[in-house]
Amino acid sequence: MSPAYDSNNIFAKILKGEIPSYRVYEDDKTVAFMDVMPQAPGHTLVLPKQPSRNLLDADPATLSHVIGVVQKIANAAKEAFDADGIYIAQFNEPAAGQTVFHLHFHVIPRHEGAALKPHSGKMEDSAVLAANAQKLIEALS
Ligand code: AMP
Repeated sequence: MSPAYDSNNIFAKILKGEIPSYRVYEDDKTVAFMDVMPQAPGHTLVLPKQPSRNLLDADPATLSHVIGVVQKIANAAKEAFDADGIYIAQFNEPAAGQTVFHLHFHVIPRHEGAALKPHSGKMEDSAVLAANAQKLIEALS
């Protein structure tokens, strides 16, 4: 049995507006913002507003909405970052690499021959994150 959802996790705080984020998309059920330690330029996180620790305890109806938003962000990221491919990742529990315990999907533009940076590695410059968020917002509009 997994631990219960902790409403003080960092993404819950972002959803409540208590912590800033580089937001690129929002609808009534979903938010997407830039990962502050990107594994590649344009690395974006897509999460449901509804609390769940990860995919294992998520409401299936919420999941089906969120995956449509993941597709929308993936197509926009491919265009905005001229990517050769898009990597989608989602981790469940620490043993699988999860570090923030509010369900989220990673959308990561990939280019042929370019290695991914480490997961939760180095904080990106705020100017770079803001510029990449703007590229994605423009591709989504
Ligand atoms: P995971 O291992 O799937 O739980 O990944 C959590 C992700 O959240 C990592 O890629 C981190 O770089 C990212 N992250 C952590 N704190 C923040 C934050 N305040 N804003 C945006 N991304 C964050």
